[in-house]
Formats: sequence, C-alpha cells, structure tokens
Amino acid sequence: MTLQSLNNLPCRIRVAVPVPIYDCFDYQVTEQQYHTVMPGMRVVVPFGRQRCIGVVISKVPHDQPCTFKLRPIEDILDAEALIDAEMLKLLSWAAQYYFAPIGDVIQSALPTKLRQGGSNARSTTVWQVTPSADPFITRSAKQKHAYAVLQSQPHGIDEQQLTQHDIELSTLKALEKKQRVYAEKRPLEILNLPTKLAEPALNANTEQAAVIQQITQHLSNYQAYLLDGVTGSGKTEVYLQVIHAVLKQGKQVLVLVPEIGLTPQTVARFQSRFHCHIVLLHSGLNDSQRLHAWQAAQSGQADIILGTRSAIFTPMPRLGLVILDEEHDLSFKQQETFRYHTRDVALYRAHLAKCPIVLGSATPSIDSLALVQQGKMQHLFLNTRTGDAILPKVHILDAKIAKKVHGLSQVLIGHIQQCLDRQEQVLIFLNRRGYAPVLICESCAWQANCPNCDAHFTLHTQPYVHLHCHHCGTVQTKPKQCPACQHDTLKPIGMGTVKVEEGLKELFPEHDVIRVDRDSTRHVGSLEKIYQKIHQNQPLILLGTQMLAKGHHFSYVTLVAILDIDAGLLSVDFRAPERTAQMITQVSGRAGRGEKNGDVYLQTLRPDHPLLKTLVQFDYRAFAAKTLQERQSACLPPYRYSILIRSEAKTEHDAVNFLKEQAQILTTCSQNSLQIWGPIPAPMQRKAGKYHAHMLLFADHRAHLHYYTQQWWYDMLKTVPKHIKISIDVDPQELN
Ligand code: ADP
Ligand code: ZN
Ligand code: ZN
Repeated sequence: MTLQSLNNLPCRIRVAVPVPIYDCFDYQVTEQQYHTVMPGMRVVVPFGRQRCIGVVISKVPHDQPCTFKLRPIEDILDAEALIDAEMLKLLSWAAQYYFAPIGDVIQSALPTKLRQGGSNARSTTVWQVTPSADPFITRSAKQKHAYAVLQSQPHGIDEQQLTQHDIELSTLKALEKKQRVYAEKRPLEILNLPTKLAEPALNANTEQAAVIQQITQHLSNYQAYLLDGVTGSGKTEVYLQVIHAVLKQGKQVLVLVPEIGLTPQTVARFQSRFHCHIVLLHSGLNDSQRLHAWQAAQSGQADIILGTRSAIFTPMPRLGLVILDEEHDLSFKQQETFRYHTRDVALYRAHLAKCPIVLGSATPSIDSLALVQQGKMQHLFLNTRTGDAILPKVHILDAKIAKKVHGLSQVLIGHIQQCLDRQEQVLIFLNRRGYAPVLICESCAWQANCPNCDAHFTLHTQPYVHLHCHHCGTVQTKPKQCPACQHDTLKPIGMGTVKVEEGLKELFPEHDVIRVDRDSTRHVGSLEKIYQKIHQNQPLILLGTQMLAKGHHFSYVTLVAILDIDAGLLSVDFRAPERTAQMITQVSGRAGRGEKNGDVYLQTLRPDHPLLKTLVQFDYRAFAAKTLQERQSACLPPYRYSILIRSEAKTEHDAVNFLKEQAQILTTCSQNSLQIWGPIPAPMQRKAGKYHAHMLLFADHRAHLHYYTQQWWYDMLKTVPKHIKISIDVDPQELN
C-alpha cells in the first residue's frame, strides 16, 4: 500500500515563488517526485496564469491536512539542491526577521541566470582556432588580434578570459562565421590549488600577534570579535593571517567589504598573499561572471569569496570564517525592498556555520559596541599604527570669523601652501559633487528646485552646464535668466567639488589638483590612473568625496582638510553624530600614514560643538563611550529596538492619514507594549513626485517588537488601499 492511498492525500511540497507575497505555496507532486525532490532545488510551477521558477522550501509531511485544491508542479530543474539546508535556514530567518517576502529573499541568494532557469552545470565556453593550412588574412585589427591570441593558446581561451586578452565576443562571433574559430562547451575544471603562501606574511607586531592568537585558538566554534583598530594599525594583516590559519584547515573564507571598498588594491593584497582560488562577487559583474563566481563558492571550489553586501547569501559548503571589514559602513544596510543589515545576517550565518566572525573597523558602530557591552562579542584592540606612523593631530577652524577665499579660510590656505612647499600632499574632503548645491536669483530670491522633490537642484558644469536632482535624477537645462523676474542675476550658492577644484587651481596654479568623485571617475581605469599619480610622491592636492575616505593609503598626504561637516552636526537623526564622527575619523586616518606626521583641519561654523571637542581633545573611542551613555539614558537604539514604517502616496493627507489609523490599531493590538513616534511627514516629504511619511515603533525587547508588529503587519497588508505604498524597515539606520 502506498503512502498516498494510505492517507488519501496527495504528496506535497512547499515552494517559495518569486512574487512579493509573504507565504510559500504548496504544490502537488507524484510519489516519485516526492522522493527525488529536495529542499533547495528549483521547480517550475504554475502561478495564476503564469509559470514561474520557485525554490523548494520543504516537503510537507503526509499527516498535515490540506484544505485547498493543489496544482501539480511542472518540472524539477535540479538534480541536487542549489541552496543548502543551512542557507535555507538563514534565508527563512531573514525573511521573517525583516518582514520580507520569502520569494524575494530567496532570489537574493541566486544569480540571475539561475533565477531564470539556467542550468547549474558548471560549464564554460572555450574558443579555439579551427585547424587550417591557409593563413588568415583580414583587414580588421580586432580580428587579427583575436586570431593571434587564440593561435598562441593551444587549449583555447575561456570566455572568462576574454576581457583580460582584450577580445570582444562579437569579434569571435565574426571569426566563427568565417569558420576560423569555434566554440566548445567544457565542464569547469576543479582546481585544487595548494594553500601555501604566495608571499610571506609580515612579521606581526605584539598587538597584532595577540589578536591573531586570540582568534585562531577557537576556529571551530562560533565566536564574534570586534577588531577595533585605529586607522593604519594593520587590521588587514590580521585578517590575512587568520585567513591563512582557516585555509590550512581546508575551509572557505567569506570576506565582506563596503561597496566602494573593493578596490583593485584590496584584491591584489589577497591575491598576492595566497595561492588559492579567490572569487569576487560585486555589483560590477555581468550575469555569467556572477554565475561562475557563485558556482565556485557553492560547489566548495573557491577558497576565498571576496564580496560586497549581497555576497553574504552565497552558499559555501565549508565556510570556516567570516570577515566584515569597515563594519560601521552604511552600505552594509540594504536600503530597498529586502532591507537587511549584512552585519546582523553575517552574525547569524557564522552562528549557523559554527565558525568565528571578525568585524573590523577604526570607528566601530555604536550597535556593535553595545553587543560588546552585552557580552555577545569580544572586543580586540590595535592601538598603534604600524611602523613609526602616528595618528594625525586634529584642529578646528572657525569658519564664522575667518575670511574665506573660494570657500577656504585664509588660515587653511596658508597651511596648504606650507604643506605643498614641503613637497607633501594635501587631501581635501567635501562630500558634495557637482558645482554648487543651490542656484538662486539675487534679485527676487527664486531658487532652482526640483519639481518632483523637496530639494534644490545641484548645478553641474561638467560635461556641460545643467541642473540635476540628486534625489530623483531629474535633469533640466540651466535657465539663462531668472524664470521669475527675468533678471540676469542667477548665482550659484555653496560649494561642490567642481567649484572647489576651480578655486584651488586658481590659488595654487603650480600644483596638480586631482578631483575624485563619481563624475570624475566614471570611465573604467580613471581611478587607477589617479592612484598612480598619487603614488608618484609629488606634491599635489587631492580633492574628493567619500570615495577618498575609505581604505586607501596615501603615504605622502600630511594635511587633510574637511570642508563641510556642519550638515552632519545639525541633522535631526539621532545617528547623525555617529556618522559624522566616523567620517571625520576615517578621513583623518588618511593623513600621516608614512614617515611624516599629519594634521587634520575641520572647517566649521560650529567650532564649539561637543562632538568636535570630544574628537579633538580625545578620540573616536571617547566619543563612542559618551554616545553609548547618551543613547542609554535617552532610551534609544541599541538600548531599545525599533522598526520604521514608511508610507508613500500622491498626497500628504493620504500618506499621513493611513499611518495615523494604523498607529491606533497598533496601539490597541499591542496593549501599549510598543511606543510609537509619529506618524510624521518624512524629512524630505516629497521625493520623485510622491509624498512620504513614517512612524517609528519602539520596544524594550526585540521579541515584543517583532511579535506585535507581526500581528499587525500581515493583517494591515490586506487593507492597504492601492494608492498607498507601505514598507517596513527593521533596525532602520536612517530615518528618512
Ligand atoms: P588598517 O586596515 O588597520 O588601516 P592596514 O592593514 O592597511 O591597516 O596596514 C597599514 C600599513 O601597515 C600597510 O601598509 C601594511 O602593509 C603595514 N603593516 C601592517 N602590519 C604590518 C607589520 N606587522 N609589519 C610591517 N608593516 C605592517
Ligand atoms: Zn529673480
Ligand atoms: Zn528630484
């Protein structure tokens, strides 16, 4: 007698379908399929009138009652699970914790090609020359080059290597038409590279050695470490030596870095140290590169996975260590749809994998420091810079009293001149690209504002003069005259990097001024050229946005100036001081990394601000200790837990009122266990043509917060009118 007839119930599997719906769906399978299918495999299922590719979450036990009519699956796409049990567990947890539809969450763990139903067979296309006695004659330089390269490679070249050889796929296709080359699918080779060092490790100093010893003594248990090391203290060397210990045990290592931290220098540092299979996972990969990198990780072939945020969801069968560098960085928090924090997901992942996790930073987040206080993380310190380098001295320049030229105070200009005269380099930090943040009419006070946002247009002068909204992307031509009073009195107000660059070139005509921002580095390779120039050890002025603030070594920079910290000092967000202190410390950390000492100048209208005083008299650690106390006495996160509910509608009334009604419902259903701030209009109320409002939910216990929010959220979703969009942000990092 079969199981099926025994219970008189069809065999069922539970599938996560890629739709923005919170539940999984049950489908009918044959008994045969029930035996072969495994959680983590992809299946083709009917959904409404469509078919889609879902991922099996579980087999439904036979004794579970089934009240609705089931539809059968159409196909099973995999012979083995793509997502292992551990990763499924992590994804299910994340979906629940962040109130994200499980289908959406599972998508984030699969490369596009697999989401679309592509095969997980590990093959690659190899191009080879067709044997021929005739010489190949062509006028196309590209074809000539490609043919010559292929001729020189007896085993052909892999599609992954095309860019490296400067060959375009279209060139090969043209050659294929002429029957001069052919393509062949080949299984990817299993590489078993030794894990001996390609380059010897540095001699760890006493502090580094202690930290390395501490971490490596328990490699087979979960333990979280906060590596709190001042800028230039050699954190990367610590990572490398700990990684080596883990590789020696035959395990894989996941290294996560912030979005703009994955520079060629970082990659080179890993590659030159280890003889092992390192794969990169970041947003710059195309679909097939991403698939191959993912497969190398998922199959256990790759030893080190070096990636940005979403790499946290890459399955790795022998994961033995997680490293999250610059753990304070905001790019670890996904700000759309599935709003996870990589740090928190990584902690849980390491816990599931029973392996250590190291969070490193010179400016640890207040959240992580609180975890240390609670005994959930071990605090490790590196207090001194390596070699003879010492931390730079920080000075405050009062911008109120100072006479300014091109936005720079006279005193600062003097210091820059002296620095250049000493043949040293200057770094000027201004986190605002474009020419000027505001364009106004001096006659009638008209301002160039974005029609879709509560925001000024930024005036850009490159590559042509135009107005650009940095919030919604709207672009307009710059009016010649004031549209309100027709006078010729339009004037840019405030400083963007392009304007400061102009001023610096005028002030220091003998020196190079190099601007580094998203606009100046749009072309591939431009950043590389800039770095080459910086490393030539000539006096010059580097001017840039946060692209310059992270990770880089500028050994010859001895003067750092930060022009615009006031916005951060004035913000209403309770996390703004933390971000500002981190930014100042990180930017300052670029100075004096070589043999010479550095100076940092903060130009501000608020020279008496307590945050600045603490940073100048003491350091980030003093600031952090104070901030922890303040948050505790004000009952703010991380001493309380929070969830932000955002609404978006065509009118302010709709956006705010819907939340008002919901706040009442929440108050009732939570029996006053939740505290609710708001609802209020968002700081930028109108953005991209929509009105935004939000409310913040607080509770002393995470479990309470989740419990009551959950009770309300899923019911509420059924009642949201079509014209209102609601989103939820657990542990929000920005109150915007
Ligand atoms: P951090 O990441 O803490 O800012 P890095 O790891 O980038 O610091 O190290 C700063 C510099 O010090 C690098 O140039 C690195 O090569 C060097 N360094 C690190 N550890 C040592 C060591 N033990 N001996 C000599 N130089 C070291
Ligand atoms: Zn006017
Ligand atoms: Zn706009």
